[in-house]
Amino acid sequence: MIVFEEVVKRYPGGYTALAGVSFEIPAGELAVLSGHSGAGKSTLLKLIAAIERPTSGTVRISGQDVSGLRRRAIPYLRRNLGLVLQESRLLYDRNVFDNVMLPLVITGHPPRDAAKRVAAALDRVGLAGREREMPAGLSGGEQQRVAIARAIVNRPSILIADEPTAHLDTAYAAEIATLFKSFNAAGVTVLVSTHDDRLFAKHQPRRIVLGKGLLIEAAA
Ligand code: ADP
Ligand code: ADP
Repeated sequence: MIVFEEVVKRYPGGYTALAGVSFEIPAGELAVLSGHSGAGKSTLLKLIAAIERPTSGTVRISGQDVSGLRRRAIPYLRRNLGLVLQESRLLYDRNVFDNVMLPLVITGHPPRDAAKRVAAALDRVGLAGREREMPAGLSGGEQQRVAIARAIVNRPSILIADEPTAHLDTAYAAEIATLFKSFNAAGVTVLVSTHDDRLFAKHQPRRIVLGKGLLIEAAA
């Protein structure tokens, strides 16, 4: 379902963030991507979402080669991907409802059904009934849950998250890990990056470990 073949990513300026990375994550898996800061984790996740393009090699998502995807095909790829990336901040001048609703507005979802979807997504992350609250009034862990609700509101088959627990206390981080496990149990393919892979240890994820742009380990 997620396949990397000899993927190289060199940024303008010449820095090689990924130096020939190959791995496969079968559909329905929970996979954890780890490695120290600067190892290339964010780059790898951005290649999946076609936010960055590989310099060489192939990235395949659900059988589709996204490496050279044309610009207007990208929205169709993203519709099937839930993304919780470092730069996917919440909109602080809109309430929780509007934040989670955003992807449905973009895809032109019928409004009445969309409101139900938002309610269901919030319920799924443990924030039922919190639609009218503003993000700034929520704890860090709750804000991260809103971001996750926004990522799953389109019911994607793949969920990608870049260090979703980075700024959270251990207890909150463990809850977020369990939440990702619950999506996986519902059939979603989940790939989460973290620099603390102990967080997911009890869920026995497939492990992908990067070091300086190279794959160190890829094991189930
Ligand atoms: P990680 O997520 O593991 O911390 P990143 O993928 O963010 O790693 O970064 C890998 C390397 O690529 C880092 O050395 C970083 O400075 C570099 N890098 C990331 N994004 C860019 C960019 N847009 N332009 C140039 N270099 C970048
Ligand atoms: P329903 O269709 O009645 O909402 P489901 O059992 O199909 O119930 O889904 C359970 C919950 O999972 C729903 O509240 C829904 O918001 C949430 N959900 C949203 N997107 C996804 C997804 N991609 N995978 C799994 N669950 C999702």
